Amino acid sequence: MAKMNVKTGDNVLIISGSREDKGKISVVSATSPKTNKVCVEGVNIQTKHQKARRANEKSEIIKKEGFIDASNVMVVCPTCNKATRVARKIEDGKSVRVCKKCGAVLDTEKKVAKKATKGTASAKKAKESKKSSAKKADEKSEK
Ligand SMILES: [Zn+2]
Repeated sequence: MAKMNVKTGDNVLIISGSREDKGKISVVSATSPKTNKVCVEGVNIQTKHQKARRANEKSEIIKKEGFIDASNVMVVCPTCNKATRVARKIEDGKSVRVCKKCGAVLDTEKKVAKKATKGTASAKKAKESKKSSAKKADEKSEK
């Protein structure tokens, strides 16, 4: 059996499925290589009505993502931002996934992206504190 090209944490584009899910881009929350299926956040939501069986249980509606076939999704390349087919190459003796469109290695790019988000988060905070101090200054000048 071919190896799965989709991994947990990947951004994927839904290319087929129900009308409301098609075209969505979301994050893979789980994979099932045995059945070649993936679970994507916010896609293929299945509602389950759970009835209370005991006095202390509540009757509730549980919403949960269902698995969809891995062939219904395409990996979105973090480098060129396009939904792409995945190629493989050997790097340092390991098989890595590469974007067929721009050739970027998908598996290492993700680590870089994580660092980048940390950086932007702290940058955002800095901006916010600047904003609030600017606001205070404004208030002072008004008085
Ligand atoms: Zn690419």
